[in-house]
Amino acid sequence: MSTSKKKFKTEVQQLLDIVIHSLYTRKEIFLRELISNASDAIDRGRYESLKDDSVLEDDPNWKIKLIPDKATRTLTIRDNGIGMTKDEVEANIGTIASSGTRRFIDEMKQNKDASPIELIGQFGVGFYSAFMVAEKVEVLTRRAGDKAAGVHWESTGDGTYIIADAEKESRGTDVIMHLREDETEFLEEWRLRKIIQTYSDFVAYPIAMDITRKEQPLDEDGKPDEDAEAIETVSEETLNSMKAIWKRTKSEITEDEYQEFYRHISHNFDKPLETIHFKAEGVNEFSSLLFIPSSAPWNILSREEHKGLHLYVKNVFISDDCKDLLPEYLRFVAGVVDSSDLPLNVSRETLQDHVIVQRIRKSLVGKILGALADLKEKKYEKYVEFWKELGKVVKEGIHFDYANKEKLQELLLFRSSTTEKDDFVSLKQYVDRMPSTQKEIYFITGDSRDVVANSPYLEAFNKRGYEVLFLTDPIDEWVVQSLNEYQEKKLTPINQGEIELDSEEEKEEKKEEREKQKDEYKELLDYIQKQLDEQVKEVRISSRLTDSACCLVADKQGMNAHMERLFRAANQDFVPGKRILEINPTHQVFGVMKELHGKDAENDRLKDYVELLYDQALLNEGSPVRNPLRFTRLISSLMVKAGE
Ligand code: ADP
Repeated sequence: MSTSKKKFKTEVQQLLDIVIHSLYTRKEIFLRELISNASDAIDRGRYESLKDDSVLEDDPNWKIKLIPDKATRTLTIRDNGIGMTKDEVEANIGTIASSGTRRFIDEMKQNKDASPIELIGQFGVGFYSAFMVAEKVEVLTRRAGDKAAGVHWESTGDGTYIIADAEKESRGTDVIMHLREDETEFLEEWRLRKIIQTYSDFVAYPIAMDITRKEQPLDEDGKPDEDAEAIETVSEETLNSMKAIWKRTKSEITEDEYQEFYRHISHNFDKPLETIHFKAEGVNEFSSLLFIPSSAPWNILSREEHKGLHLYVKNVFISDDCKDLLPEYLRFVAGVVDSSDLPLNVSRETLQDHVIVQRIRKSLVGKILGALADLKEKKYEKYVEFWKELGKVVKEGIHFDYANKEKLQELLLFRSSTTEKDDFVSLKQYVDRMPSTQKEIYFITGDSRDVVANSPYLEAFNKRGYEVLFLTDPIDEWVVQSLNEYQEKKLTPINQGEIELDSEEEKEEKKEEREKQKDEYKELLDYIQKQLDEQVKEVRISSRLTDSACCLVADKQGMNAHMERLFRAANQDFVPGKRILEINPTHQVFGVMKELHGKDAENDRLKDYVELLYDQALLNEGSPVRNPLRFTRLISSLMVKAGE
């Protein structure tokens, strides 16, 4: 037999130190985490046994057992699930830290008020919560179906663990917790019973415990004989009701029960924002219990790490990660689907193409979008909270789920040039409050609200009282492209193409003035164009500026600066296109430049001005200047000249 002593990876040890040394209430959570692991292990064992019954080893009764032992001050959580091989023990609870470990530590460092208990399950490191109450933890485990593969692991959480081959008669895992002296409450029957009822009642397998009862023997009159020695009887009792909560009637389920179940399957620690519980009848029969979380799960942006729905077929567990039941943009929804129609031997790999799965999926999407629409209409503030957390995920749907575009576009909320800092506007509200002269829906994309709110592109729109949507999520560029229009009003970027805000009459009125401006500035524009030939495609007079001197715009088909930054972030070799420099002829600086140009076109100061104008325009669109040193030197020298 080989025994080795190994070191935990640094992150795991850091995590353990946090778990061991912080003070908290609700330590009993450790039991929920370990039972949840046991239940998952049985789920997996059961699933494997559908294909290969050697896994069963002639014991078809899946169960979890709690074994409190006051003599040794240990609490054992035993399951007869799938078990772990030596490699799996190493990978899951040994040296190799999961990405969740790092996250957990970062979160604990950043958020001083965070409770490790609340985070531990969420980041997939629940096993280590055993160290909250135990001074030593042993794991004795054996992979189901392989009698020779027993493993023993133990650690006191002090930086190292010991791992060795071991004998184990029955399949599955024993987690043996050597409780600390002040944690003996977890050996008391009443305490364990209460914890199971509170947190694990719905676990689908029996959680059993031996209950010892003392009874006085009866005397001749049939009354307890107080003088005789008590008789002890031991019987195994199941502590949980095992009722699949999704199969129960809604009216019989309490908020707390829903909440605990939500925490169990999602590993989130918040309250669900909405609970969607329904039974579909008709062509396809299934029960479903879905939850919309109130905060974004930490791994929401990583598709691989994020788990899908739990799938059951006729009450039998099939998968705890069925991604085919929901489109990706609804991946924040946690829950269970239990189908009556799918075959029990359905393979996880072919689920995606299964016509029944597709039908269920369609129905789930309808329900979820309906619930969100309802929430928006009836509990707007709650919806806003949801939107702030998960709006950017829902927006992906606009791009990917064309069939539901109509419904999805009503769910969108945006910041805009006229909303208060914390407010949003929907497309419908936007259109409803458009002035009659406004024909299109205007938007600007950028990195943050502050940047776009102060951008010169807004000037002419503000002046006219035209609202401009602020699109500051990276996904927004794709949202507007896929959406294209709303209620037959085109979505138009204000920093791209030519913007015409004037009506025909206004145009007529201003025609003369414009022609004059064009003539007047023609030579200067040509000059600027020549100086900036490598950088810009065209220099023209702007109709969108009223106060600022100049700005850069993309041409109609081109990419704006924000989009370019996104592309560049994704692809280093990306070559940006040339943009158009628009100038505001009413700005004083052009009067000055025109005069300089009239006197001497080769004037160095004029060249500096052109350079500075272009750099200003770059800054305005949120791009860096080309040569910051030169830029600041030019400004300083101008400041000196201005003071002379
Ligand atoms: P999580 O359960 O969220 O993945 P844990 O830290 O609780 O995180 O467990 C890590 C992994 O260890 C599990 O994903 C599982 O693969 C394995 N594991 C834990 N407990 C058991 C068990 N009782 N039986 C089999 N495998 C287990």
